[in-house]
Amino acid sequence: MPISNCPFDVTTSTGHLKLRLEHQLTADHWQPTPSHPHPSYLWAPERRQVLECTMISPLLVLAIGTCLTNSLVPEKEKDPKYWRDQAQQTLKNALRLQNLNTNVAKNVIMFLGDGMGVSTVTAARILKGQLHHSPGEETRLEMDKFPYVALSKTYNTNAQVPDSAGTATAYLCGVKANEGTVGVSAATQRTQCNTTQGNEVTSILRWAKDAGKSVGIVTTTRVNHATPSAAYAHSADRDWYSDNEMPPEALSQGCKDIAYQLMHNIKDIEVIMGGGRKYMFPKNRTDVEYDMDEKARGTRLDGLNLIDIWKSFKPRHKHSHYIWNRTELLALDPHMVDYLLGLFEPGDMQYELNRNNVTDPSLSEMVKTAIKILNKNPKGFFLLVEGGRIDHGHHEGKAKQALHEAVEMDRAIEQAGTMTSVEDTLTVVTADHSHVFTFGGYTPRGNSIFGLAPMVSDTDKKPFTAILYGNGPGYKVVGGERENVSMVDYAHNNYQAQSAVPLRHETHGGEDVAVFAKGPMAHLLHGVHEQNYIPHVMAYAACIGANRDHCASASSSGSPSPGPLPLLLALLPLGILF
Ligand SMILES: [Zn+2]
Repeated sequence: MPISNCPFDVTTSTGHLKLRLEHQLTADHWQPTPSHPHPSYLWAPERRQVLECTMISPLLVLAIGTCLTNSLVPEKEKDPKYWRDQAQQTLKNALRLQNLNTNVAKNVIMFLGDGMGVSTVTAARILKGQLHHSPGEETRLEMDKFPYVALSKTYNTNAQVPDSAGTATAYLCGVKANEGTVGVSAATQRTQCNTTQGNEVTSILRWAKDAGKSVGIVTTTRVNHATPSAAYAHSADRDWYSDNEMPPEALSQGCKDIAYQLMHNIKDIEVIMGGGRKYMFPKNRTDVEYDMDEKARGTRLDGLNLIDIWKSFKPRHKHSHYIWNRTELLALDPHMVDYLLGLFEPGDMQYELNRNNVTDPSLSEMVKTAIKILNKNPKGFFLLVEGGRIDHGHHEGKAKQALHEAVEMDRAIEQAGTMTSVEDTLTVVTADHSHVFTFGGYTPRGNSIFGLAPMVSDTDKKPFTAILYGNGPGYKVVGGERENVSMVDYAHNNYQAQSAVPLRHETHGGEDVAVFAKGPMAHLLHGVHEQNYIPHVMAYAACIGANRDHCASASSSGSPSPGPLPLLLALLPLGILF
């Protein structure tokens, strides 16, 4: 343990301390490149102090430590008044929450950070602050500003550590399900087409549509990926992206692929944006953007062009637009768009750090256009927004990619917040599951989130990064020993953080994830809940779905305030199907 008041062990040998200083200075000397635009997040005052400290005799170890440690504390934080005033203001805000917002939620926006466990939220917060040249820890994400927070138990009916399909069924359809299945109850077994029929469960997107609201799906993955697909599809296997990925048995039993279901199950989804072009076109059709890439070609065995089918379902007097690049998106006048289908990549969209600013919109840009289109409906809207590649970054062990995805989703949350009001819009931010991602090592205040712990291992005598994975592809042994990270560029966009167990793909984590909520009825997300509780709250708040008995008094009084007790009593157990 470090000695008191020190974020790291200043009594450690001079060599260890010097090692840390050298690493930070080395990190500073990297020059920005397209693949590595943020060479250092080291906080400027600390950097100065580090330089000063290095001038001092290495024999004065304690003095160096004190010098370094003091320099890490922002001046205002040394005054107790700063902390007392801040806490008192927070208390005032908390007391104001006693006046519950029991309005009807005209709009519901759900932000789903795929794989965004609590450790990812904290690390993304620090990153966001450091991108703005702050130490980072004190930064507030947009989701941090939401007044209500709950924990969500993420397990699938057949899995302690869940996947994104079973969880999507829980937080969109209100029913827990088996891993790998979407939009079906736990009576459906993965890959078993013949266990699908009769076990379909519908989602809050459908309930909103049935209530006359506009609905939208925005994701950075394929639009037929696990998370969005539970909003509209019923599939025994999340991997049935098109008929090309389905076993002959499932096809012969009449099961339909997920892309097909996107276009046919709910024909009037107003906004669909993400990746996944190739699943919409006949087999071997050349892609519009990557004409030389065979993997980008159409996949459909049935020869259908689902874009044409999508267009054919739209009324002639309505304005429907299919687009495939950012330029087209930004050129749209959302007031003149009734239906939008934007497919910006053949598969998943690019990572935010790798994004092409001509062809690929950011998540916040997609959200901005989506809300402008959906907002036109006087009955309101439901919008599902997925930051889908946080998960992919983690699976690849590329924490920097994952965290920049999370920061971009937070920007999208901010964007939505500027376009909506808590008076009539319920916004929920959560994750489907966590990852075995962690950061630690007694790092000092303001340490680059991608930086090193301030000491070397007391066992193998090598430095280590603060960020580590429990398992994954970053496991590296060189000459029979753990790799020395000081020999590699551990701040590179694609650096794979070290893991304890070698796996080609890092795994999900099984602990609870956070649920952040603001707007009407947000207070109903308040404790430790099963994940499938979430859409029941969203539907209740919006007076959609089955549980609407409280809504009559709400609409007749003009202000839907039946009081908290009747509201909670009304939340009786619901059936599987709405
Ligand atoms: Zn995953």
